[in-house]
This record gives sequence, structure tokens and C-alpha cells, in this order.
Amino acid sequence: MYKCQKCGKVTQPHEKLNRLVTQTREKTYVNKFIDRYGNECEKITTGNEIVKEINVCGKCFEEVMK
Ligand SMILES: [Zn+2]
Repeated sequence: MYKCQKCGKVTQPHEKLNRLVTQTREKTYVNKFIDRYGNECEKITTGNEIVKEINVCGKCFEEVMK
């Protein structure tokens, strides 16, 4: 049982927890590797990192996912 952080309703005990991501930020990953000539190389890749997430009830979760 938990309180929905969107509508403020307290969910039923059997209701499953929905985690809603509200904020992400771009993250840069530096991957270091040695190439076949023995040189150290860097490969830059980007991805998204979760900054903030909230617990919401099933109803609010469905509305957002529509
Ligand atoms: Zn809700």
C-alpha cells in the first residue's frame, strides 16, 4: 500500500507499485579500450539516466502512458 504522488490517493493493498519517471538527464559514458595496435582509445557513448521518479497509482500511470 502506498500513496500516489500524482493524485494523492492511497492505493489498495493488492495494487502493484507503478514507478513513473518524471525526469531524466543525458549521461555521457567514456569506454576505454585497447585497440589491436596496443593504443589506448576512448569511445564516448550517451544514454539516459533517471533523475527523478515517483510512485503512482494504476489509474495515473495509465493516463500518462496513453
Ligand atoms: Zn493516482
